[in-house]
Amino acid sequence: MGNVQLTNVTKRYSDLLAVDGMDLDVKDGEFMTFVGPSGCGKSTTLEMVAGLTKPSNGTIEIDGSDVTDLPPKDRGIAMVFQNIALFPHMDVYDNISYGLNVRNVDKETKDEQVDRAAEILQLDGMLERMPSELSGGQRQRVGIGRAIVRNPAVFLMDEPLANLDAKLRMHMRTELQRIQRDLDVTTIYVTHDQEEAMTMSDRIAVINDGELQQVAPPLDCYNKPANVFVAGFIGSPSMNFINGTISDGAFTTEAFDLDISSSSIRTMGDNDAVIVGIRPEDVALAGTTGKPTMSRPITATVDVLEPIGEQILVYLRTEHDDSKVPTGLSDATEAVNRTTADELLMSVAPDSDITEEQEVDIAFDRRNLHFFDAVSGDAIHHGLAPAGDTTAETG
Ligand code: ADP
Repeated sequence: MGNVQLTNVTKRYSDLLAVDGMDLDVKDGEFMTFVGPSGCGKSTTLEMVAGLTKPSNGTIEIDGSDVTDLPPKDRGIAMVFQNIALFPHMDVYDNISYGLNVRNVDKETKDEQVDRAAEILQLDGMLERMPSELSGGQRQRVGIGRAIVRNPAVFLMDEPLANLDAKLRMHMRTELQRIQRDLDVTTIYVTHDQEEAMTMSDRIAVINDGELQQVAPPLDCYNKPANVFVAGFIGSPSMNFINGTISDGAFTTEAFDLDISSSSIRTMGDNDAVIVGIRPEDVALAGTTGKPTMSRPITATVDVLEPIGEQILVYLRTEHDDSKVPTGLSDATEAVNRTTADELLMSVAPDSDITEEQEVDIAFDRRNLHFFDAVSGDAIHHGLAPAGDTTAETG
């Protein structure tokens, strides 16, 4: 068992509110990832679960027991850090079993534990090697082995793959998922890398400025982001955001209008400032997708092309009228780095013959338009039905 419950967990460093009233329930056996930009409070939260940092406020429970004031060794947790320091003069066996010596575990149990860890980590046959004879990934696995032999109820991992090169990191992501599944141990994993969070986790907790933004399975955060921050942080390249207003049942932005007559969003009130979001993968050359869900085309000019292998990123300039940008927008707009029709990003297939400075007609997949309150930044609606179709809203 390894359920972890955070209730109103807060950490202050003099004036700085590093973690702000966090409520979170990590289920037994779950792979939960804390993700957010550097300095948002991920490590501080993990350290509070580990018992390395004391919360200023709030409680932490593991399997229903309040561990808020317990030292790390009494919490049933094991940590894996970014910089795993192996003892250079000890072989793999001794490195993995080191923690068991301190606990006076007998030789037979120690052998069993190390063999089991080595099998899970695919280190069997390497137990007599010295750290200098191991690759970076193998060393990292030895570090994880040390955590495994402690039989923890909860694994806590702080950017354990950050020091590995890109190829090895990809490989170790899959390995870690497999290990976690085999062991079925609750895991809280910290990373600033949204792609890592998306690929590995059962659920992700997106954090910004010490506050939880959304806790949900990765695809839910991608398809139904709770606010503009999550929308902009999850997914690469980042979502396009454009300012607009709802007025007289019509949606207007500086660069285009949308037919919202078939959507419940049209009842939202007049002159409401709204941010509309659309991912680059949901923008396409008009007439090329064959989908009935595309918006009316708008004209744009290709500014820059960025081929990145499996796709080409196309930076577009659209004709736009600045006077249509709503005034008086606040923090929510600052949270997104690009609310302009000046630099709309589209992704196209690598065999596209699109060229720079070309004039093109583009359209948006209406099902994947996201609407946010421009003042609070909170999501108000995801997805529009095909124009004129009142039955197919995704909500
Ligand atoms: P993350 O892991 O998301 O990068 P951290 O949890 O390490 O962020 O830090 C959150 C905030 O708390 C940051 O602004 C950081 O500078 C601050 N912080 C972390 N540890 C301390 C400390 N010991 N003393 C003062 N401020 C700290």
